[in-house]
Amino acid sequence: MFAPRIVSHATSRCLRGALRSHPSPILSRLEPVKFTKSTGFNVIRSLRTVHPPAASTRGTSISLARNLNPLPKRRFSPVLLQVRRYADAAAKAAPGKVKKPRSAIVKACIRTLTMFGFIGAVFGGAIICFFIYDATTYSEDPEVIDIPVSELALNPERGGPKNLPIARVLVDDDESEGRFNCKHKPKLVILGCGWGSVAILKTLAADQYHVTVVSPSNYFLFTPFLPSATVGTLELRSLVEPIRTILARIKGHFLQAHAEGVEFSEKLVEVSQIIDGEKRHFYLPYDKLIIGVGSQTNTHGVNGLEHCQFLKTIDDARKIRKRAIGNFEKAVLPTTSDEERKRLLSFVICGGGPTGIEFAAEIYDMLNEDLIRHYPRILRNEVSVHVIQSRSHILNTYDEALSMYAEERFARDHVEVYTNARVQEVKQDKIVFSEKTDDGKVLTKEIPFGLCLWSTGVAQTDFAKNLATQLDKQTNKHALETDTHLRLIGAPMGDVYAIGDCATVQYNLAQNIMTFLRDIAWEKGKDPKEVHLTFKDWQTVALRVKKRFPQAGQHLRRLDKLFQQYDVDHSGTLDFKEFSELLSTIDDNLTSLPATAQRAHQQGQYLGRKLNKLAQVAPGMHANGLLDGDLDEAYYKAFEYKHLGSLAYVGNAAVFDVQGYSFAGGVAAVYLWRSAYFAQSVSLRTRFLLFMDWAKRALFGRDMMDL
Ligand SMILES: Cc1cc2nc3c(=O)[nH]c(=O)nc-3n(C[C@H](O)[C@H](O)[C@H](O)COP(=O)(O)OP(=O)(O)OC[C@H]3O[C@@H](n4cnc5c(N)ncnc54)[C@H](O)[C@@H]3O)c2cc1C
Repeated sequence: MFAPRIVSHATSRCLRGALRSHPSPILSRLEPVKFTKSTGFNVIRSLRTVHPPAASTRGTSISLARNLNPLPKRRFSPVLLQVRRYADAAAKAAPGKVKKPRSAIVKACIRTLTMFGFIGAVFGGAIICFFIYDATTYSEDPEVIDIPVSELALNPERGGPKNLPIARVLVDDDESEGRFNCKHKPKLVILGCGWGSVAILKTLAADQYHVTVVSPSNYFLFTPFLPSATVGTLELRSLVEPIRTILARIKGHFLQAHAEGVEFSEKLVEVSQIIDGEKRHFYLPYDKLIIGVGSQTNTHGVNGLEHCQFLKTIDDARKIRKRAIGNFEKAVLPTTSDEERKRLLSFVICGGGPTGIEFAAEIYDMLNEDLIRHYPRILRNEVSVHVIQSRSHILNTYDEALSMYAEERFARDHVEVYTNARVQEVKQDKIVFSEKTDDGKVLTKEIPFGLCLWSTGVAQTDFAKNLATQLDKQTNKHALETDTHLRLIGAPMGDVYAIGDCATVQYNLAQNIMTFLRDIAWEKGKDPKEVHLTFKDWQTVALRVKKRFPQAGQHLRRLDKLFQQYDVDHSGTLDFKEFSELLSTIDDNLTSLPATAQRAHQQGQYLGRKLNKLAQVAPGMHANGLLDGDLDEAYYKAFEYKHLGSLAYVGNAAVFDVQGYSFAGGVAAVYLWRSAYFAQSVSLRTRFLLFMDWAKRALFGRDMMDL
């Protein structure tokens, strides 16, 4: 039985319309029923009694069919379906009078065409809107207004140890209300516009500081995709974002120049720029200085690196691309001998870390996907790719299974990998290296090359080296040392920070032993060296250690076990010697943080948040006269690095080492790899360009031009 409620409005409307316009004997059967929503049920029952449809009811049926046929199927309730069945039967009895229902194929075609028409209309509309918008972006009469510029900006006073101009005011400090408001805020100077610096700029709240970025490049470079740009998978412009665009939100300033040195006592950075061949120096004053100048390629003292290519900057990627394509063109010339062709088509990569491996993978992809399409096929047969790695595996910082996966994949793709091999010298057209065999023999080998990439780790920039020599407490030869609040050790406290590749966090837990013991000793009224820590004391100290050195937290999970292990004399307490032993062991287990974009980014975000906090509490601190002391420690937690994982592209496959889980895979993993970095991209503009590049490669292939 149908319940009255299932007769929809549409049903009763149809029935009513049909029966009113065709008074027939059926109506007399239905009288005195009125066709309302709730009585539709009775109508159906009445209609069902007319079986088969009589001639007298045909008019009604035809009308019903006309009313019902145009309704989309999904709108038929079970009741309506019955009505329709009835109507169809009636229609058959009166052919030619009823509009024949359309076949399913015709309906599908109409629907598809309607859909395409709709989509076309939307796109057409969008294109028209875009052109209208585009037309509004051209300005024929630029607005010329008077811009106030401070006299001090045009003619800076001189001073400092070298009596150089001091840029206390910049030419755009007064140009708008927003900038003018920032003019008298604390001066925050950031050196470099890489991963660390950009993370700060993106985290800083607007209008808190007068921000100036100093860097020789006026763009941020998205390095993880740099290997893809060397072969044209991605375009160089898709990897960069103008630093001025990033600075606009916080009304910051940019000076394209090199930082040369820092006068810590006078809070001045010495900056230089070459204009028309003349090197000009000036000072930039700061209240807070952040050093994020990155690193340079480590040469390991090998001779002949001038014959190698590096992969650190946009220019490097451009040079590699030009050289590779140039070599392909030379290799097809009739004057090129066989031996020369093989050399031109030999790619040697020194360094089996992620950068070297990704470059080898990209070269391999290009050879298979584009070289064979555009160049004589003989070239593909004569191309060779070689990787020279000093360790026993490539990608040796990844899980072993992933290294093996990458090695197997390279073996399958005929990429030759030499492990336990050290480069001795690079000559103009060949590389000389030694390889340690499994039986311990050391063999000297040579490989002629047309292109050699040197990618063997990072070293300090000259600027960072100079700073380290200025500060007695800086003893690390590889990077500037900071404390866990990222403050440069040796510089006045709270003035200078260092982040990213140029810096390393110094833990030295054992050296801080007295700090930890002092408070406990004070409570017990003893000399710190004579304090014996009970388990309760040890729990308190462990909390302090964790707060000051968050990275040590993972080694302080089982306090009871550690206590038992280091209580050598089983006295139930830890004496000074036992406690220092314990801290030294934790110290040894604390590895230095990796020189990666991930680390630089986290440090930048941390500093950005801390600077926001310090700006917030500054008025209160000034009011209470709290201007000195360890304000960072008082107002913000120490920096803790959280390793999110490592990824690498290995040629139409990718490997992931994420939080203790490792996995590798083919094209699906490549999409995951791309997505992970795509999400990290700094702007909508670069995301759009990256997407277009990937689409372009898929549709048209890579551009094989040495532009
Ligand atoms: C090809 C390649 C691929 C990489 N892939 C990955 C990856 O997949 N994942 C990952 O985590 N990391 C990757 N890295 C490492 C990552 O790029 C670095 O760890 C990261 O860039 C470090 O950031 P940073 O802010 O310290 O320095 P950088 O990003 O190197 O920026 C340094 C900035 O300082 C400027 N500068 C230099 N000298 C001076 C000076 N004297 N005065 C003022 N400014 C100066 C430079 O112009 C630059 O703007 C890759 C690196 C390369 C080269």
